Amino acid sequence: MSLQPDTFKSLVKVAAERVIASAPELTSLDQAIGDGDHGINMKRGFEAVLGKLDAISAQPLDEALKMIGKTLVMTVGGASGPLYGSFFLAAGEALSHDRQLPDDLANVFGCGVNAVSARGRSQAGEKTMLDVLIPVLETLKTAAGQADLIARVRITAAEAVERTAPMQATKGRASFLGPRSIGHIDPGARSSCVLVQAVCASLEGQE
Ligand code: ADP
Ligand code: MG
Repeated sequence: MSLQPDTFKSLVKVAAERVIASAPELTSLDQAIGDGDHGINMKRGFEAVLGKLDAISAQPLDEALKMIGKTLVMTVGGASGPLYGSFFLAAGEALSHDRQLPDDLANVFGCGVNAVSARGRSQAGEKTMLDVLIPVLETLKTAAGQADLIARVRITAAEAVERTAPMQATKGRASFLGPRSIGHIDPGARSSCVLVQAVCASLEGQE
């Protein structure tokens, strides 16, 4: 499937707007187990992405994702900025220099996930954004090529966020709370879910 500049532009716009709209929720989640800045961080980063939307969407897909990554690294801050930045930079590296959506979407997404894991020295089960990104990657692999792929990804992301609540954080600021981090949803897991679901909604609207 080829992704036309206008289609890609609206996809990025929807994703950025949804992250910005979710800032109060992300902030309140981060107030419970962190320092309360995740909403502000993500809002700042995705406002910067919106500000460059024309330039980003004029690029081939690989360059566009790398531009998003660099923008997030420069503007989000906190732990999540370099981690989301790494995701988009690595996913951009894994794409070819054109506008084709790759057949092997899982491979591209997987490169992003690996980059987060490498930079964060983190893995599944540590109550971070990876606890959404890794299950989504698994669904991208297992449901590849199936008609209900997008719906399954959407459900996977929603369920994965909820599963972070009973986890004890062992990475990031929330890990300082030890067992007191249990019982709260991880803010980064939530922002990953917002992003994944925004892309799903945008792609579903284009089918
Ligand atoms: P900070 O923790 O520096 O205030 P943010 O509040 O913006 O940064 O982001 C916090 C989120 O970053 C966490 O909820 C978690 O999902 C994610 N995170 C933190 N450390 C790691 C890590 N080592 N690996 C993966 N994700 C992480
Ligand atoms: Mg924070």
